[in-house]
Amino acid sequence: MAVRKITEYPEAVLGQMGKPVTEFDGKLATLCADMFDTMYAAEGVGLAAPQIGLNLRLFVMDCEGVKLIAANPEIIAAEGEQSGQEGCLSVGKVPAVVVRPQKARLRAQNEKGEWFEREVEGYAARAFMHETDHCDGKLFIDHLPKLRREMVIRRYKKEKKW
Ligand SMILES: [Zn+2]
Repeated sequence: MAVRKITEYPEAVLGQMGKPVTEFDGKLATLCADMFDTMYAAEGVGLAAPQIGLNLRLFVMDCEGVKLIAANPEIIAAEGEQSGQEGCLSVGKVPAVVVRPQKARLRAQNEKGEWFEREVEGYAARAFMHETDHCDGKLFIDHLPKLRREMVIRRYKKEKKW
């Protein structure tokens, strides 16, 4: 069990496009186990590699019964619309309402390098998109209108006592 330190906004790695995962070996399995440990310790439902300072396209998730490892993730289809609260372990869990598609289909590789597709709805779909965004160097606040984004950052800074 190894809980890693969570990278927080505005550290540069959170804004960088992740590099593809190319080695599906024991090191990757250990990394994923650490990411699950870190996510559970922080009481999150998803965690992407940039959130522990690694510039990699990789996330883990355990949300509404959907537990998986996703390397090189891509959202290949999305439809509908949902509006709901979202937060991020890298932005102090300050919540904001984000509008996203209701359904999302993910294509990714598991820890053995096998490709899979999975389609989910609602909160799990939100997690798919939130975590895939992390792998592309995007944060949920990038989806917010400017004023609301500034409000989230202000509240986050206040809680962090910047
Ligand atoms: Zn996040």
